Amino acid sequence: MQKIISFEKRYTVGHMFFLLVINIIYSVFFQPLTNYNDLFFIAIVSSWGILIVKTFILEKEDWIKWIVDKKLYNLLKLTELIMVSLLIVSAREFKLELSLLYLVIIIEAYIANEDLEEPVYKFFYLLPFIFTNIIYEGTNLLQTNKILYFIFGIAVFLGVQYILDLNIKEVKRKLNENKILIKEKNTKNEELISSQETLQELNEKLKGQKLELEKATEEYRKKAAEFYVLNEIGKFLGKSLEVEKLLGGVVDVLSGVMGVDMCCIVLYPEGNYDKKDVSFHIKTVYDKKTTDIIRQKIESGVLSFLMDNRDIYIDNEVAQTKNLFFENREVGSFAAVPLYKGDTTYGLVLLEQKYKNYFYKTIVDLLKSVANQIVLSIENAKLYESVEELAIKDNLTKAYNRTYMQKVFFKMLKEAEESKEPVAVSMFDIDHFKHVNDTYGHLFGDKVLKTVAKTVQAHVDKYNGIVIRYGGEEFLVLLPNKNSEQAYKIFESLREEIENTELVEGVVRTHITVSFGVTTYPELVTDKDMVVGSADNAVYKAKESGRNKVVLAKKE
Ligand code: GH3
Ligand code: MG
Ligand code: MG
Repeated sequence: MQKIISFEKRYTVGHMFFLLVINIIYSVFFQPLTNYNDLFFIAIVSSWGILIVKTFILEKEDWIKWIVDKKLYNLLKLTELIMVSLLIVSAREFKLELSLLYLVIIIEAYIANEDLEEPVYKFFYLLPFIFTNIIYEGTNLLQTNKILYFIFGIAVFLGVQYILDLNIKEVKRKLNENKILIKEKNTKNEELISSQETLQELNEKLKGQKLELEKATEEYRKKAAEFYVLNEIGKFLGKSLEVEKLLGGVVDVLSGVMGVDMCCIVLYPEGNYDKKDVSFHIKTVYDKKTTDIIRQKIESGVLSFLMDNRDIYIDNEVAQTKNLFFENREVGSFAAVPLYKGDTTYGLVLLEQKYKNYFYKTIVDLLKSVANQIVLSIENAKLYESVEELAIKDNLTKAYNRTYMQKVFFKMLKEAEESKEPVAVSMFDIDHFKHVNDTYGHLFGDKVLKTVAKTVQAHVDKYNGIVIRYGGEEFLVLLPNKNSEQAYKIFESLREEIENTELVEGVVRTHITVSFGVTTYPELVTDKDMVVGSADNAVYKAKESGRNKVVLAKKE
């Protein structure tokens, strides 16, 4: 149908042009429009009418469809041919030329309309020409020239038809072949396009998968690093419950894994920021001098602004001039990780690298895990220390107990023997303690015990002394490397200190005194088993001679 439409559109314009030319030629050369004979006039006007109506119809696809469906196309063609036949027979001149026009129209229809392959249709198209000639010319047709013209017309038609038949069949066959080829090509093209689309889709999918894979690899790498660090830290945790050793190990692992120039864990004892008691675990690529300066700077409080942070602080473009902390070395990236749990800040992990943009975003998670692990380790170690302490220390006074004494006492005596340096052993007993209990109650008595033990421990700490609760309100003090003279002086000043310590509890304000018996091994006592007895005897003597005294044991 599309073929018919395009064909008709093309030729309708041509027909109009021819009709116009015929009109003009006739009007100019032969007769004015008004002098046309009736039939010629009707033929011209009808031809124009048909062409105009056809132009109009060709714009309406629905209509053409209807015409083709109802097989009316041939009828229309026939009407057109009748008009041309009328034109031919009514024209006084150019009958032959107009007959050729008739032929042209037939050829057009023949090419456009596939139905014309039927021989009956081909003949059908010749009928208007024959009939109009017969009707119009009537008996004139019997004139020799007319017969000749008539026969000539039919002969030309049949000749043309024969040639067309031959050629058009070939052309149509070729067209059909081309059509099939084009169809195949189109199908192939479509297949190609669709496979290209599938390829593109696959490519996109692959790209997506590649990205996902890259992401997963990156994630895996991150997790692997995290796992490695945590595993290494875990090893230390398993090996050592001493915080100091543990953090030394953590610093080693962290600086190794992260490839930093400086890794430092700063701890604030008991979670307060007193800079005097800061403890360091530091590993740097710098020399000792630079490392010491870092240490001093941390102690000086330059980083105190980081102490209250609860988030990891990362500066990947360190402006060295702005912060005094980085003064003596080249730093591009800096990270500070707070070590805290709840309200307690234990300290900071500090990391430095001379390159900028070193601490990428994903490292934050790792640092957080490490920080949690460190805090956990600190707490574990503290817990362990306190459990260990419980086993060897007296719960009330925090002095060592008899269990611990058994561990260290003879060891110390042996060391004294080997080093030829005497060890001083003092036993002391609180004077009239029963009275203290009776007067102020046992709770106050307990407080007195605590205070005395603390005072003594603080005093003898300076000499690496050990305080042991020997029983009740009796204590033993072991002072390494002290002879009787030195020991006497120490305990005398301790006695004075205790005497002058005011004990306050509510409205109660009182003082107590203590009696010391001091002996030394192997200076005063040479038998290890007699050391405690010797000190005990000396206490007894102190009590006997009026209490609040330091008495040296007699040399045996
Ligand atoms: P002295 O000067 O002769 O030593 O007189 P004293 O009253 O201190 O006599 P003694 O050493 O015999 O008294 C020991 C008292 O210490 C008896 C006991 O009630 C008291 N005591 C022992 N252990 C504790 C304790 O853990 N808490 C309290 N509050 N009192 C204790
Ligand atoms: Mg006693
Ligand atoms: Mg007593």
